[in-house]
Amino acid sequence: MKDHQGLADRIAGAVLVPGDEGYDAERSGFQLHGQHRPDVIVAAAGAEDVREAVASAAAHGTPIAVQATGHGLPRGADGGMLITTGRMDGVRIDAAARTARVEAGVRWGAVVAAAADHGLAPVNGSSPTVGAVSYTLGGGVGLLSRRFGFASDHVRSIDVVTADGAFRHVTAESDPDLFWALRGGRANFGVVTALEFDLVPVERIHGGGLYFDTGHIPAVLDAYREWTATVPEEMTSSVALVPFPDAPGVPEPLRGRYAAHVRIIHAGDSATGERLVEPLRAVAPRLIDTVRDMPYAECATIHAEPPFPMAYHSAHALVGELDPAIVAAALDAGERFIVEIRHLGGAMSRPPATPSAVGHRDARYLAAVLSPILPGHGPEASRPGHEAFIGALAPWDLGRSVNFLYGDNATEAEVRRAYEPADHERLVALKAKLDPSDLFRLNHHIA
Ligand SMILES: Cc1cc2nc3c(=O)[nH]c(=O)nc-3n(C[C@H](O)[C@H](O)[C@H](O)COP(=O)(O)OP(=O)(O)OC[C@H]3O[C@@H](n4cnc5c(N)ncnc54)[C@H](O)[C@@H]3O)c2cc1C
Repeated sequence: MKDHQGLADRIAGAVLVPGDEGYDAERSGFQLHGQHRPDVIVAAAGAEDVREAVASAAAHGTPIAVQATGHGLPRGADGGMLITTGRMDGVRIDAAARTARVEAGVRWGAVVAAAADHGLAPVNGSSPTVGAVSYTLGGGVGLLSRRFGFASDHVRSIDVVTADGAFRHVTAESDPDLFWALRGGRANFGVVTALEFDLVPVERIHGGGLYFDTGHIPAVLDAYREWTATVPEEMTSSVALVPFPDAPGVPEPLRGRYAAHVRIIHAGDSATGERLVEPLRAVAPRLIDTVRDMPYAECATIHAEPPFPMAYHSAHALVGELDPAIVAAALDAGERFIVEIRHLGGAMSRPPATPSAVGHRDARYLAAVLSPILPGHGPEASRPGHEAFIGALAPWDLGRSVNFLYGDNATEAEVRRAYEPADHERLVALKAKLDPSDLFRLNHHIA
């Protein structure tokens, strides 16, 4: 990248190079391990900045990475251009049409709050600080997904700057191939500047968390396995095995304890929701039980994930069933790592009205293992344990979800496993056509 000064003159946001004040803060996001170290950062203030940045990178043959919040950081870029979108934070709700239009840097918390003012909800994920655009383009396994499907199923239009520097408003009608590829193929086809998607009419849910102490964890997992085989689509849930730190921010009953956290979201009437959780409550007394009728606007309290940046690594598999052997592997791994099992299926298993590249609709669960990375260390210490956990899932392993591939795990081979083989071939062909010089390669890369 040679023409920084010329580019800075055309950018309303900021252009930063190593050594500039603000360079380190701008490249930094939620994931603290392995962050991007680009030759130049374009901190975009709007779609026109993105267009200028892409055109300039294309003219110089400079590869491009994009970052909104850094929750889904792939392998960090060493060199190249990083376009950051955090300043692009506009949210517009059309209550009559039941849609939201969000700019590239918008986080889910802002959309949930804006939609709730109209009795509506997006198909958002567990954390309010995750970016809405990348989450949606990676599929989007949401709190309401068994009822309403993947977030990507609800996209109406995508504003994107493609490798030729052109700004395109993409819909199923205007460009069916690109509309198909962006929903699942994400950063490989351009930098998305805004998304428009449908909202769903959910104002209140019956939801919350059930926390069980160490000794009850095997019985909780057994009950969860049987229970998820019976619940209706209105019920979306997950369970995490968490060695909670003995730290002030952790609720007192959980401090320093290894506990199971069952997360409940019933998008139906409260009485039915209350009845549905009975078999789980019957397993054992809870350390904390917050399941209740609640406004959807409070949904971030259900997973209650830490909002502050951290260094972590993780591995996951989409599986066709929750075999007792997977439960046994989770119990073994849970002694050392955070283990999470999310219940999929329901509306996620049906094809969307407009097809997309998002794969593995036949998956019934997502099983993940996650470890913090301690300062001064890498992921090596816990990698063998993560690999052993994923290896134990092999007989049921259907593939990966782009959204849950982080850091060193976001290899081309793993990214390929996020798609059906024929879809991956189609993505590769479209990539060759739309981004022939592979400008967009510092990402979850489709070669
Ligand atoms: C605490 C936590 C909770 C999560 N919960 C869920 C969940 O419930 N369901 C789920 O499905 N996923 C979940 N995820 C995964 C998350 O959806 C992905 O990591 C997602 O990519 C994060 O998007 P981001 O913008 O926040 O992160 P970023 O790291 O900023 O973006 C990730 C990647 O997306 C691409 N990208 C970003 N912006 C653009 C753009 N404008 N145009 C094109 N490409 C772009 C880039 O390649 C970038 O590297 C969670 C992750 C974390 C850390």
